[in-house]
Amino acid sequence: MGEFELIRQYFQPLADNARQGQLILGPGDDCAIQRIPPGRDLVFSVDTLVEGVHFPPNYPPEYLGWRSLAVAVSDLAAMGADPVCFTLALSLPRAEPEWLAGYSRGLARASDAFGIALAGGDTTRGPLTITLQVHGTVQEGLALQRSGARAGDLVCVTGPLGDAGAALDFLDTAAPTDDQQAVLARYHYPEPRLQLGAVLVGKASAAIDISDGLLSDLQHILDASGVGAEVDAGKIPLSPALVALKGGEALGLALNAGDDYQLCLTIAEEVLAELDSHVRSQLTAIGRISPKLGLNVANAETVGRRQGYDHFGRSV
Ligand code: ADP
Ligand code: MG
Repeated sequence: MGEFELIRQYFQPLADNARQGQLILGPGDDCAIQRIPPGRDLVFSVDTLVEGVHFPPNYPPEYLGWRSLAVAVSDLAAMGADPVCFTLALSLPRAEPEWLAGYSRGLARASDAFGIALAGGDTTRGPLTITLQVHGTVQEGLALQRSGARAGDLVCVTGPLGDAGAALDFLDTAAPTDDQQAVLARYHYPEPRLQLGAVLVGKASAAIDISDGLLSDLQHILDASGVGAEVDAGKIPLSPALVALKGGEALGLALNAGDDYQLCLTIAEEVLAELDSHVRSQLTAIGRISPKLGLNVANAETVGRRQGYDHFGRSV
């Protein structure tokens, strides 16, 4: 199978998911064309996944298809952007039809679920590496950023944390229990909080998606905003499956493990109180921004603290 046949068969079908006509030209020309509606800002981000670094060798391709798009789209959710289109740069050791069919099936499911169309890409031979650039738009000037947290704001998260971290222990389990399946689903099929990010535009003061772990990602908000925070670890939502599987280690995973792709955001208390009750019910306040620098975590005395994953960093 040649490069162009491969693109036509496995990836061209994903281009039909054009959103609101904003993707004017998809794959097949030298460039794609996206039209930005008046009053909107283009918000874009690129992510690379390398086999053996970001996902295990022989990771099932259908999961990878979903995961690779979900983790990229999660950055759009964190900015409050509506997804429009993405490009896919795929480096493959060989053109294996079974792998390509699985990968493009998972990718197509994610593309439908998130309302984002394939705009083009690049296909090369090499070690398995997947790079996606995602494009979205947000109301002009209102993208959620890390730098807006202010003293007194509440720190909130959008759902249970630690499940994906716990799942790493069960990736090779032949017949997972119900609880193991529940945490594995969070790892294989992360669901970027797009709707929630979008409704928080103009409301939340800062936001980030939790890819590396709550403490390290919240610290990015604190650094960018020049503030500190007090967090009550006892308020962090934990899933029943995580608690059943990990007991006393559950909280450590919720604080330090990554891959959950919930949002961590800051919001003024009075703004939170005015949110629609359906939106409010999805937010859990876990702490408060303070003017004093530093991140203090109460009720986590038994949990060690580690830094988030840094490809070139020192471990502390
Ligand atoms: P060029 O040589 O002009 O850069 P390519 O030969 O790399 O173009 O790609 C030809 C067309 O196929 C382009 O429109 C490109 O966007 C598209 N394409 C290449 N690889 C992929 C892919 N993996 N998924 C979707 N479209 C792709
Ligand atoms: Mg060209």
